[in-house]
Amino acid sequence: MNGYGGTILRVNLTTGTITRQPTPEAVARDFIGGRGFGIYFLTSEVPVHADPLGPENKLIISSGPLSGMLAPGGGKCDWTTKSPLTGGYASASMGGHFTAEMKYAGLDSIILEGKSEKPVYLFIDDKKVELRGASAYMGKGAIDVEVSMKKQFGEEFQIAAIGVGGENQVLYASINHDYGREAGRGGVGAVMGSKNLKAIALHGTGSVTVANKDAYVKAGKALYKACKDADNIAEWTRYGTTIVVSWCDEVGALPTRNFQAGSFEGGKTLYAPVMREQIVITDKGCFGCPCPCGKYSNVKKYKTEVEGPEYETIGMLGSGVGLTDISDVAQANLLCDDLGIDTISAGSCISWAMEAFEKGALTLEDTDGIEMRFGNAEAVFAAIKKIAHREGKLGQLLSEGVKRASAKIGKGTEKYAIHIKGMEQSAYATHNATAMLISYMTCDVGAHHNRAWAITYDLQVGRDKVVPEKVARVIWLQNFRPMFDVLGSCRLQWVELGIDRDLYVPLLEAITGVHRSWEDMEKTGERIWNLTRLYWSREIEGFGRDWDQPSPRFYTEPPATGTTAGQITKPEDVQKLLDMYYEQRGWDSTGHIPPETLERLNLKEFSVH
Ligand code: SF4
Repeated sequence: MNGYGGTILRVNLTTGTITRQPTPEAVARDFIGGRGFGIYFLTSEVPVHADPLGPENKLIISSGPLSGMLAPGGGKCDWTTKSPLTGGYASASMGGHFTAEMKYAGLDSIILEGKSEKPVYLFIDDKKVELRGASAYMGKGAIDVEVSMKKQFGEEFQIAAIGVGGENQVLYASINHDYGREAGRGGVGAVMGSKNLKAIALHGTGSVTVANKDAYVKAGKALYKACKDADNIAEWTRYGTTIVVSWCDEVGALPTRNFQAGSFEGGKTLYAPVMREQIVITDKGCFGCPCPCGKYSNVKKYKTEVEGPEYETIGMLGSGVGLTDISDVAQANLLCDDLGIDTISAGSCISWAMEAFEKGALTLEDTDGIEMRFGNAEAVFAAIKKIAHREGKLGQLLSEGVKRASAKIGKGTEKYAIHIKGMEQSAYATHNATAMLISYMTCDVGAHHNRAWAITYDLQVGRDKVVPEKVARVIWLQNFRPMFDVLGSCRLQWVELGIDRDLYVPLLEAITGVHRSWEDMEKTGERIWNLTRLYWSREIEGFGRDWDQPSPRFYTEPPATGTTAGQITKPEDVQKLLDMYYEQRGWDSTGHIPPETLERLNLKEFSVH
């Protein structure tokens, strides 16, 4: 098949069996690649109600037709599994160079199943695929493992590894690649750890056939030219995602002390120019990226180096926990990456614990003697280490995520556990931003921002407005933006540089030989979105409207300070938004997909009811 590696590699960790099957043409036609392949294989192969950390769950790694190709940022790789954090669908996107190497090794998906008795790593060098003993790597940091494996196998090998957080099955453990590119959300690292798989070392040298070589080169060049010609490419490349720290602070979207406010009085010291000046030493990008957003930092205060921090980490492990020194944030970032836990969920859990401690719901006995107060950098570092090791009362408590931690502690702490569907909310405060709020409420993995980044639309339309157009915009974004994760390419060239998305259409056609307009791809996106919803319904007893509710903080507690002081979403508007959303999606008022919508989307075969 043009544009594909052509093979699905299946690795059974229980038996050690490694098999290959041709990538099914019908799956490529209907689901295209990336997270499309992920949800297809998850739904088709993982038994209903499988234990997420049991051998029957699978971890599915997928490239897409633009991965490793002449596409700006064609380095996106999807990791899909049943989430141990939420019990529902998890899909984590990872940048870097892994997915390109997968394609060159001829692989469209790697499906990891079963559980190894002993720690192993997966070694792939083109057609040579082996499971090898990993005892020597156990207990080591994910970045340490990458450094060692690159020394042993060569720089051309791409490494994805878990840290001790994954080994200990912290429910939001991440998978590190390329010294700081993470498959971060939903606990994909815990699933890898549950399989006793420490790392994957991967190298491929094959080529990928394309349908029309001349058209391919022409379309690829046109995309790169559009990026290079973008007015803001220099500024974007200088600051990457940190460019939005100051904007979020100004508009009241910057999570501050566990989302108690959306503006941070110490925020200016975390702004992009300060970070660039104080710690950044170079830029770092994914495969084929013309506008690298990664900022590589030398943190003199701690004598360490780290990729980042990027915006989400600054929000969650900076303002979110009350830190004002960008060096402290960078150090917290490094600890999370190497120990292998998601910076967003870790930041949320720590900031919840700080609020609970300051309000007296947690005592020094609960925190193993740590003064969990906002602004205490040493407490942040200590908590990260304890979480990754599941050590002490605090580590045990926070390693389960904020939903379970607050349910265990009670005392009203559930009200400020900031999550949806059990996934900690990423770094946009939504006290009075109804488009972003409904985007979080309905996101397919839990409260994650990257499906529909709608907060700018709130400002355009009026942040407290509850109108069908807002909901329609969110749905359009949810159908369209994740298609970049299906194609295996970065979305930020479209989002940040504003390049014309139609430039991708001839590229995809030249690669695959199949013409797909964006309207066609949005239809595929809608189908995938609905399939993920079906997966939640299938896995969770009583799943529905109650699972789409935001933290009460955003509709009961107006911030006392900052630019959104006194502002709040009205409680009745939260439900109005959901009603509009369900109606526009063609779902019923309980949030379920009725037969006629399943029929329209040709999804009946996936319904268990
Ligand atoms: Fe990777 Fe950033 Fe470039 Fe996207 S913009 S491809 S995330 S470096």
